[in-house]
Amino acid sequence: MYKHRWSDGSEINLPIGKAVCIGRNYAEHAKELGNPVPSTPLLFIKPATALVPMEAPFSIPSGLGQVHHEAEIAMLITEKITKGDPEATIRAIGGVAASLDLTLRDLQSELKSKGHPWEKAKAFDGSCPISRFQPIEHFPDLSDISVSLTINGSVRQQGNSVQMICPILKLVQNIVEFFTLLPGDVVLTGTPAGVSEICSGDEIEMTVGDRISVRSRVTQ
Ligand code: ZN
Repeated sequence: MYKHRWSDGSEINLPIGKAVCIGRNYAEHAKELGNPVPSTPLLFIKPATALVPMEAPFSIPSGLGQVHHEAEIAMLITEKITKGDPEATIRAIGGVAASLDLTLRDLQSELKSKGHPWEKAKAFDGSCPISRFQPIEHFPDLSDISVSLTINGSVRQQGNSVQMICPILKLVQNIVEFFTLLPGDVVLTGTPAGVSEICSGDEIEMTVGDRISVRSRVTQ
């Protein structure tokens, strides 16, 4: 079962909460899917059951169309943040991880075209492989965090938080206007361009900054 862990493998004594995610937070990614850039953050939630450890081989759904990888920088919330408390934001972020917002792209397109909610395409069990966390102290500048995803030796996605349309602290403040963040919740900060299909058998390597580097494999 998934548990939040620090990079040395020790368990983080927090419950597994929700993952709050943002769509289209990098202009080049919005463009590649033919979507307009939203004027306010486009938020959605994955439940705790979406989280699985990225360090172990993880599975993807089969028979439901294409599964896309979205490589994202994740933030661990370690203190409660409610609406109207901007000073709480910075001290409430305790860790940084690499994460994948796995997306059933064909199903998402079908649901979107009917005007239906996306949940089945975004929030399914195992839809959020996430690495162990590095303490936030190692990331003094949240507006300069690199992220990359390599699959079977070729670089698929590469970006930096400086390219985010809604920067990390502003994103967290926007989230709590709608959803209180609790200790153990995580925030996924959007994906740079280069999303494409991920398949069973793929070997992946994901990095965030110069301290997080994870190798893993996709099983069925
Ligand atoms: Zn995403």
